[in-house]
Amino acid sequence: TEFITVSDLADLMGVKSNDVITTCMSLGMMVSINQRLDAATIELVAEEYGYDVEFVDAEEMIEDEIEVEEDDPEDLEPRSPIITVMGHVDHGKTSLLDYIRKAKVAAGEAGGITQHVGAYEVETDSGKKITFLDTPGHEAFTAMRSRGAQATDIVILVVAADDAVMPQTIEAINHSKAAGVPMVVAINKMDKAGANPDKIKSQLSEHGVIVEEYGGKNQVAEVSAHTGEGIDELLEKVLIEAELMELQANPDRLAQGIVLESRIDKGKGTVANILIQNGTLKVGDPFVAGPVFGRVRAMENEHGERLEAAGPSTPIQLTGFDDTPQAGDRLIVPKEEKAAKEIANQRQQIRREQSLRQTKHLTLDDLSRRM
Ligand code: GDP
Ligand code: MG
Repeated sequence: TEFITVSDLADLMGVKSNDVITTCMSLGMMVSINQRLDAATIELVAEEYGYDVEFVDAEEMIEDEIEVEEDDPEDLEPRSPIITVMGHVDHGKTSLLDYIRKAKVAAGEAGGITQHVGAYEVETDSGKKITFLDTPGHEAFTAMRSRGAQATDIVILVVAADDAVMPQTIEAINHSKAAGVPMVVAINKMDKAGANPDKIKSQLSEHGVIVEEYGGKNQVAEVSAHTGEGIDELLEKVLIEAELMELQANPDRLAQGIVLESRIDKGKGTVANILIQNGTLKVGDPFVAGPVFGRVRAMENEHGERLEAAGPSTPIQLTGFDDTPQAGDRLIVPKEEKAAKEIANQRQQIRREQSLRQTKHLTLDDLSRRM
């Protein structure tokens, strides 16, 4: 069984991915940053850094107990891209998301966006759709990844034109690269007097983000989240990147999705924001989300409209959970309801045992120094 990736292991030990790669090399193994490592390798490498490893996480093995059939290529249809905005603090992530939300949510849609579902869909001038995760930043992205989930197709990297490539810019670049997610650069605050996009482009190239005019493959748009300048161009570039990726899904299958956020509402019980990644979720469908069983009671979109069904790349607010799942938990509709209940029970059992054992042992998530 393979467990975590090189970059996850490096994160857990608080060292650089490159150091782990070098260590593996010194142990005679050529590995890449996204490669998953088996238990023996993890132990060997961790030992080099003075860590002792204990494996108690059986959840990942259980994860495969729900049979998820491969899609027949003939059933696949294009789906819209899912975008996360990342970048250094104050470079304008929230402003950019706000501008796009206000300017690009189709005017005809009942009262614009009326509720928070963790993401929103916009329609570009060319009539194509893009889904934006509306929590910017690296934490959501890494939290998802540490749970083995990935919700993002493309990262928009925001850099302020009147500032410079900063530590969190570099962090965002590293996260995107580790996850293998392409980046489109938005050089923001172009309306400001000190804007110097060429400086930003040249600094980015020192970190391996090379824009097209420098002969690289990262697309770049010069924008202002205040005036809206360049934002249509940015969205078109995101769509070009998405086209290159040939993002597809099969709407005619049982749904798969990911929990973006969850909370407990006094009246409704657990309410979770879900992004549907494949298939179509329908009212009445039984599902398992992480260790939680449920049945779709109601779904609403960001406009507060009730949905009977939600297809790929659609963000929804969902009710009908027996308990509360966590961000990053995967939602799956199994063929049989009975299987879903059993799996939810097994997972709950495992999580209970894990929390008991964690009091006595070190776990993979809780590596601790021997010295
Ligand atoms: P975040 O920390 O990356 O989310 O950045 P914010 O969106 O909160 O923006 C930080 C500050 O920069 C705020 O005062 C914004 O009003 C300002 N700001 C963001 N985008 C622009 C822009 O395009 N032009 C100008 N002049 N200011 C901007
Ligand atoms: Mg912000």
